[in-house]
Amino acid sequence: MPLVSAEQLTDFSSRLYRATGAPPDIADYVAETLVRANLTGHDSHGVLRHEAYLRQVKGGVIQPAMRPRIKHRHGAIAVIDCRWGYGQIGARYGMAQLRGLAREHGVAAVALANCNHVGRLGEYAAWLADEALVGLVMVGCPGTQVAPWGGREPATGTNPMAWGVPTGRGPMVLDYATSIVAAGKMHVYSDRGEPIPEGWVLDSEGQPTRDPDKLFEGGMLLPFGSYKGYGLNLMMALIPVLLAGTLPSGAKGAEAHVNPTLMLALSIEHFGELEDFMALADELRENAHRIRPAEGQALVLLPGEPEERVTRQRQREGIPLPQRTWEILQGLADEWGVESLVVDR
Ligand code: NAD
Repeated sequence: MPLVSAEQLTDFSSRLYRATGAPPDIADYVAETLVRANLTGHDSHGVLRHEAYLRQVKGGVIQPAMRPRIKHRHGAIAVIDCRWGYGQIGARYGMAQLRGLAREHGVAAVALANCNHVGRLGEYAAWLADEALVGLVMVGCPGTQVAPWGGREPATGTNPMAWGVPTGRGPMVLDYATSIVAAGKMHVYSDRGEPIPEGWVLDSEGQPTRDPDKLFEGGMLLPFGSYKGYGLNLMMALIPVLLAGTLPSGAKGAEAHVNPTLMLALSIEHFGELEDFMALADELRENAHRIRPAEGQALVLLPGEPEERVTRQRQREGIPLPQRTWEILQGLADEWGVESLVVDR
């Protein structure tokens, strides 16, 4: 598998986004966030997304140079009109607004309307935690890819959420889809030519399958955590969608990647001492590491720790790109008149 450094991949990705007509700061940020997803091991939300984003640019779904603006503000609440620019740019603007409102009021909420795919939610939860805030980011995806608990037809999107809290050793981030895993993981397995684990996907007939492509042939993901995960999936399908004022039918075209988003923040310093909060979080981490691991496990980890480990490894060794992803990126370079990506190893 080709290995590419994060720097090279970011530089290549930014050149691609500049070729779409995005100003340099927009192209750089979209590229950086996607490559950071690869660095954390979430390849489903990394450069694999270039193909879909660039198709959406061609289809008029993404307006590459568009910048968000405030639709309205009321007290500690702001609704941002992302104007169908890159979703990451709407999210970046939303976070900055949220930080200001949370520092002023102690608690704040920002909804992102008319927002394209924002990528990996942990990106934003970590940023908020770095700002001494407890952050919660929720997305309601309008696609129908997830079967309800007890059902055999896809009814909702993968509807992810991410929490970020500050600790003495950096943000602790819990970030996942409320389906058993993100739908993008099927693309990753398909690109690697590998079967998916059991219990993820049912085919169009409602039968269990380990073929990742069956999801995109009328199949469905299961919710995580049986009826509890299903309930959470449903809440994510409702709350961000309604508060961002973007009903699923408002999505442009048939693309199911729009991301009505709700971001919440609590300013810890409005409640008490930040140091006390972080000390407790650090104690939790140390306690977890002292717990006797289950058979086959080396260590009990906290949310976010698997990503920290993969990041250190990929910074050292490079980001592996499956052959199919590699070929797609080279095809996009040709299509958009951008110099090809050079492989490190
Ligand atoms: P996942 O199933 O890989 O779970 C990841 C979470 O579980 C992380 O918080 C991780 O730290 C934690 N975790 C994993 N192993 C652990 C362990 N051994 N101990 C403790 N914690 C552990 O994630 P997913 O559901 O496949 O989602 C992947 C990404 O896809 C996320 O970043 C999510 O934001 C993104 N996503 C985005 C959209 C969108 O529309 N923008 C939609 C769905 C998913």
